[in-house]
Amino acid sequence: MKLILHRDLPPSLRDQPLEASSHLPPHNVDPVANIKEAISCGMKRICPACKNGKMFRTYFQMNDYCPTCGVKYEREAGEFIVAMYINIFLTEILFISGYLLTNSLFSWGVWTQVAIWAPFNALFPIWFYPRSKGLWAAGLQLSTGLYKD
Ligand SMILES: [Zn+2]
Repeated sequence: MKLILHRDLPPSLRDQPLEASSHLPPHNVDPVANIKEAISCGMKRICPACKNGKMFRTYFQMNDYCPTCGVKYEREAGEFIVAMYINIFLTEILFISGYLLTNSLFSWGVWTQVAIWAPFNALFPIWFYPRSKGLWAAGLQLSTGLYKD
């Protein structure tokens, strides 16, 4: 259960009862389709709220607000630390699975494995960095909804 703090509510809803929290996503939609759409938005780095605005102004710098609909992506400082965990987790899962798979299928030496997996461990997290932040923002949209200030 997510605790909704009064300070987390948009100013227009702070003086209303919680039942009137219209920023929460609707519950009458197909959850599987919703998750697929959120993953798609996160991987494409487009706003999961309006499915149009670009989440990043440069490859590494995320916009504070959606340039199209104006929702705020990061409510609390450090909230995107989870994106780093997503990035590390996926990198290591792919590395360990790939290493074990290639080690069992081929008789490559240890330096061949190092030559393959060391660059993978260096480059994949860089490629996946904005996508992991996009996925986390999409997860926020699914759970509590992104909203304007
Ligand atoms: Zn948007």
